Amino acid sequence: MEKVKSGKLTVLFISLGILLIMITGCNTDMKGYEEPAAKKGDTQTSTPWIDHSVKGRIKPGCRPDAKDDFYAFVNYDWLLNAEIQEGYSRESVFEGIERNTEKKVRALLTDHSIEGREAGLIRDFYDTILDWDRRNEEGMSPVIPVIEDIENIKTMEELSEFICDSERSALVPVFLNAYNSNSYKSPGQNVVFIEKDPLLLEDAAEYEELTGVGEALYYGKKELVITLMGRLGIDRERASYRFDRVMALEEQLASMSYSKAQIKAPDIYDKVSRIYTPKELEETVVSFPVSELIASLGYKEAAEYDVMEPEELKKLDELYKEDNLEVLKDYMIIKYLIFCSDKLDKECYEAYLKMQETISATKGSKDYENVAYNKVVGRLYEPVGYIYLREYASDDVKKKVSDLCEEIIKGYKEVIADEEWLSEAAKEKALLKLDNIRVNAVCPDKWRDYSGLEIKGLNYIDSVKRIDSYLRGLDNERTNRPVDGDYWNYGIFTCNAYYDPRDNSINIPLGILDGELYTDDLSLERLYGGLGAVIAHEISHSFDEKGSGFDEKGNGVDWWTKEDHGKFKEKSGRLMDYYNNMTGMDDIGINGENIYSEAMADMGALRVLLHMAKGIEDFDLDVFFRQYSRLWRCVVTPERESYILLKEEHPPNYLRVNATLQQFQEFYDTYDIKEGDGMYLAPKDRVSVW
Ligand SMILES: [Zn+2]
Repeated sequence: MEKVKSGKLTVLFISLGILLIMITGCNTDMKGYEEPAAKKGDTQTSTPWIDHSVKGRIKPGCRPDAKDDFYAFVNYDWLLNAEIQEGYSRESVFEGIERNTEKKVRALLTDHSIEGREAGLIRDFYDTILDWDRRNEEGMSPVIPVIEDIENIKTMEELSEFICDSERSALVPVFLNAYNSNSYKSPGQNVVFIEKDPLLLEDAAEYEELTGVGEALYYGKKELVITLMGRLGIDRERASYRFDRVMALEEQLASMSYSKAQIKAPDIYDKVSRIYTPKELEETVVSFPVSELIASLGYKEAAEYDVMEPEELKKLDELYKEDNLEVLKDYMIIKYLIFCSDKLDKECYEAYLKMQETISATKGSKDYENVAYNKVVGRLYEPVGYIYLREYASDDVKKKVSDLCEEIIKGYKEVIADEEWLSEAAKEKALLKLDNIRVNAVCPDKWRDYSGLEIKGLNYIDSVKRIDSYLRGLDNERTNRPVDGDYWNYGIFTCNAYYDPRDNSINIPLGILDGELYTDDLSLERLYGGLGAVIAHEISHSFDEKGSGFDEKGNGVDWWTKEDHGKFKEKSGRLMDYYNNMTGMDDIGINGENIYSEAMADMGALRVLLHMAKGIEDFDLDVFFRQYSRLWRCVVTPERESYILLKEEHPPNYLRVNATLQQFQEFYDTYDIKEGDGMYLAPKDRVSVW
């Protein structure tokens, strides 16, 4: 999903699913799927399951038994038949829900009978993006003046002038960005964050040791830049040289940046996010015109700044010198070209698509209308959301979802009160956090005003320029003010749910409450097994290791005792070991360090839902477990699976189901699972933390 602003706080995207499957008898003599991959080291892999994520790995013939591989048992037919759509690298219920939403939003974008300013604005942008006649006619001309402007820079003074002139450098990545967001140090208060542009390879670790993911980014982006520079009359060899010298510059910046893995560490907030007054910042950064840039972006009045990675900023300052003038210019030109590549004519767009295919291993390409839709909702998510809500939301959905959240919070309070390993002091704090969770369900209470934004008649690039400048103005207004949680910073149609430790909120937008996941008449078991599991997973982050560093107001306070940390380490270590003994696709090991936290959240969710189910008469656990299994059904391309196994912080989906369910006695009792069955894990070996 396109984000207007990049923040380092990870937003967790979650996919969900439901499919009613007829259960047929299984001939246990036949193997419906390939043998598990080779075992890792001396330890026997503790899973008898194969990584089913890649299409084709489950063979027609026989469904495995529920006792042996519950995920494949429930989702067997779906896994055999699911197709990854053109332009995507995954198919799951997540994609299904997104397609439903897209259909509804696209109907709004093309319906000229809908009146009002917001409706006109989003239609104008959509039509402009799809105006291929104009785009093809203009060719590269919308970007040429900016590129020439940069090429003509002769001195460092001229470079600084360009960077600090927001009109001239609009849409050009100028090394740093600034934006208001909830402060880590003083939660509830907006602070201006100073962040460096994202790296071309997206992860600092890639500059030390290139993985397959980094390699795809490198070749994908380089080829795109060579094509676009070719359109500007720069030959292949020269373009390649210019790209590589920007890479070398980035390598130096990356040496002082945190890698994606490091950013995930629970104590990361102690290392990043340092507050500077304007004077301190000016004293620290001596060459790069940081104060002038911040002023040109409209944050001159800010009382203080939060620099995400101070060491990285110092490195940039060190590299900002005469010797590097040409490469600094190339940095801007190359990143500007990449940014504009999908907003110019068809030839550029095709080159952009080729890059996308290399990077994300998508199959084919999305249709133009789909792309235009994504662009509109990416930037104008509020006006679109406002109309979407008016046209599609039912009155009682907000109440129902909020009630479900409250029930789960209540369930967790009971579970936590009974938890044996947490200290009394930590329990008290966890309960306080649960008591104070802010539930943001369905839609915000307030919407910002877009009446001053007019893009009629502008071409695509200029529309983006105008919109971004307007959004910047809205962001400027937040400077030095308290955070108003009644506004949302993302679209209500987002198919996503997340917990934000900085304001202790659980967020469930309307976009996730669709199709298979939420209908007015869904049974309680299916509601718990699907949406309930997602919400419960997210709420567990309020009191788990990630949440232990923030109090009920979002202050960065560690409320676990030393003893709690010690016990957690021991428990999470067992959980990591359990996963480390497993192998995914093509012998790629499951990385326990990467995934333990999310695996734990899945287990916590199951624990609370099973606890809640105990109090409900005739609760059908079979329906509940099947729904939970459907929630995570998915097929992906091999490239995406390899990305998931190497980089993702969630376990691959077959493990989110099988390894989670086998922690719970209720599951064994429901399906009469015994020693020798594939799903069996001896009670002494179970690793659930909650
Ligand atoms: Zn999570």
